[in-house]
Amino acid sequence: MSGIGKGVATASIGRILKSKGFKVTAIKIDPYINVDAGTMNPVEHGEVFVTEDGLECDQDIGNYERFLDEHIYKDNYMTTGRVYLSVIQRERNLEYNGRCVEVVPDIPNEVINTIKKAGNKVKADFVMIEIGGTVGEYQNMLFLEAARMMKLSHPKDVLFVLVSYMPVPAMIGEMKTKPTQYAVRTLNSAGIQPDVILARSVLSLDEPRKRKLSVSCNVHPEDIISAPDVRSIYEVPVNFEKEDLGNRILKKFGMRPRKSDLKEWGKYVDIINNSPKPVSIGIVGKYFESGKFSLVDSYISVLEAVKHACIAIHRKPEITWLSAEDFEGNRMALNKLKEFDGIIVPGGFGNRGIEGKISAIEYCRKNKIPLFGLCLGMQLSCIEFARNVVGIGDATSREFGKKSNNYVIDVMEDQRELIKEKKYGGTMRLGSYDCHLQDGTVSRQAYGSGDITERHRHRYELNNDYRKALEEKGMIMAGINHEKDLVEIIELKNHPFFVATQFHPEFKSRPLKPHPLFLQFVKTAAKSE
Ligand code: GLN
Repeated sequence: MSGIGKGVATASIGRILKSKGFKVTAIKIDPYINVDAGTMNPVEHGEVFVTEDGLECDQDIGNYERFLDEHIYKDNYMTTGRVYLSVIQRERNLEYNGRCVEVVPDIPNEVINTIKKAGNKVKADFVMIEIGGTVGEYQNMLFLEAARMMKLSHPKDVLFVLVSYMPVPAMIGEMKTKPTQYAVRTLNSAGIQPDVILARSVLSLDEPRKRKLSVSCNVHPEDIISAPDVRSIYEVPVNFEKEDLGNRILKKFGMRPRKSDLKEWGKYVDIINNSPKPVSIGIVGKYFESGKFSLVDSYISVLEAVKHACIAIHRKPEITWLSAEDFEGNRMALNKLKEFDGIIVPGGFGNRGIEGKISAIEYCRKNKIPLFGLCLGMQLSCIEFARNVVGIGDATSREFGKKSNNYVIDVMEDQRELIKEKKYGGTMRLGSYDCHLQDGTVSRQAYGSGDITERHRHRYELNNDYRKALEEKGMIMAGINHEKDLVEIIELKNHPFFVATQFHPEFKSRPLKPHPLFLQFVKTAAKSE
């Protein structure tokens, strides 16, 4: 079932195996038709994560990278659309030698080949594969079929883990195992028997329920692992290891047990749970309302990056979501920003909430509140500065669809062509690009190096025609991509922290390796209270 933590469970098992000295990678399978996650609404689907090689994918890939501390690449992401597209392209290239190409076995075979390719690429000892959705639904059937076929051809190399939800209905107060029993039956009818069950629930599993599940699901009691709700997702590997899950898995593969080294990880979890002094960060965005629910999944990597940085300085992250539209035409509302140690203006698309974000940036600039702009946040920082400091009243971005004589943020020639032809999917500036940092800047000092690479996902850029005017009034072009001659980081002087990046630094932050800019931002924010 989606949303119960399959991604974190997959990433956690991966982390445990890595801590035993193995090379691990992970693959996400999403059953929908979309070829990538780039064109999906973040409120509906959550954040779009970006890999080094420029794939726009599901946020679970972000969890894999954060837990495994490994880069995950394009081949590690499959959707129904991606698999079909590749089979159809191969058929068109005559790669099937004129034979009839069929859904079964050609689609599952394509899935299997992709899995093998992803594993071989990084010479992995273990490839974790997460199949999204719920057992029994039509959409993921072909992926389960691929899984079954893999087990048939490599019986000793494939192991199945079912992540199942055990509800505790409030009216009854008792944990129910029936949905899991049904899930296993359904899985059985697809020809698959789980080897391990991860029992997700608000509580730990007790002995009677373990026995009941064991008998009805045909799984040994010691292979039924409790996965209760925890305060931080980073506790999950530590919790699994309490039940020796890593060695149970090795045993099933006929391998000798190995000690896990989760020392650093465990220490990290202790800091999370024992850092009472907060740093308060406000995030001015718009992708968090869906009906009556507030969804922060759209900014998950930003949230995690803030956490990593706070934990590194033994502080508790206290994050408040601020809706940009609340600041529009409401100067009084902006005073609220004073309550925070620092403000982040994250990425975004389209023009809803834009003026609110610009007002928030202006307020932080004038009131010396630490401000960190990410992608759209950088573009809006330039627009705000152009309007209010340089005096270009109609400064805007071409993205917002308003007539203006001053597109301070604009499209490059190649992007103009793509937009004209409505080629939106996978065509932004995506993935890793070089950036050279200017000496004497906050960024240069934070990174401790002059040349870095960071991940991008945007169509618009700072228009070089305005660079000089902005610089003359004090904006510092702190990071430049020389190859394309594009500004990647801007900073302001005479401000405790005003840094904004055209790239998305949040994608490269890891729990034990916080991102240098997030760290510098949080350090400054922590001091400014
Ligand atoms: N909408 C802006 C662009 O396309 C910014 C994108 C973002 O914040 N990721 O350039």
